[in-house]
Amino acid sequence: MRLDKLHPVISGNKWFKLQYYLQQATQYSARKIATFGGAYSNHIVATAFACYLRQIPCAGFIRGEAAQTLSHTLLQAKAYGMELHFVSREAYKNKVAIQESNPDYYWVNEGGYGLPGAQGAATIPDLVPDIENYTHIIAAVGTGTMLAGLCKAAPPHQQIIGISAMKNNTALQQQVQALLDTPDNRFTILHDYHFGGYGKHPATLISYIQQCWQQYQLPLDIVYTGKAFFATEHLIKTHTIPQGSNVLFIHSGGLQGNLSLPAGTLPFS
Ligand SMILES: *Cc1c(COP(=O)(O)O)cnc(C)c1O
Repeated sequence: MRLDKLHPVISGNKWFKLQYYLQQATQYSARKIATFGGAYSNHIVATAFACYLRQIPCAGFIRGEAAQTLSHTLLQAKAYGMELHFVSREAYKNKVAIQESNPDYYWVNEGGYGLPGAQGAATIPDLVPDIENYTHIIAAVGTGTMLAGLCKAAPPHQQIIGISAMKNNTALQQQVQALLDTPDNRFTILHDYHFGGYGKHPATLISYIQQCWQQYQLPLDIVYTGKAFFATEHLIKTHTIPQGSNVLFIHSGGLQGNLSLPAGTLPFS
């Protein structure tokens, strides 16, 4: 499923995760929507764009001091009218304090983590024709919000597999479970496909992404979907996913994360 094709700027899954937050903010007549993220955060730019469309003022609290030249992501967020506040790495650790000093804002968690986010992501499968025919759904995992949404939406016979983009983030299991009403043993999070850690993109990953482009004209990103698609192929080749299965891979977007690479690293952008 190609969520990356939804829109060139707002990477797929963030759009779904934001929809109910925005609705709530409008209902509460919030003065401003505010959220957190790093300089390359898809969530930041998606929030900026979604607020721009709805004409809601928004603020992004960005981890770390402002760089000499802003990242492409932050420039885009700014162009959509997001007010940027740079927060030292130390102060960023205490997000509650930042929230408390701006109590009249409608706060969205970093990465859109939370129940409204999962409920938004639960609408993703609505767009897939004959969704019940799939035996497995595979997607990349950051906060686990999308994975929780997929679990909410999936019929009972489906296996939901999340590929963590981080190294050893074992808290994810609990983080996903916390967004589900009932214990769910259909979802599995795999932790062996991080390529060195969050945002790490060794040459093996870059050449894999290049190869997928050449073979399938499939553009993947270095943070999430490149790793998740690699994992999917690996699970199929090793028969961990049995032959005869019907696998739905969710390309969750995020291609603009590739803009952090030196120009020309990938044959697409
Ligand atoms: C944010 C993001 C994810 C992770 O989604 P979570 O709901 O935080 O797990 C996966 N893929 C892409 C492309 C993303 O931008």
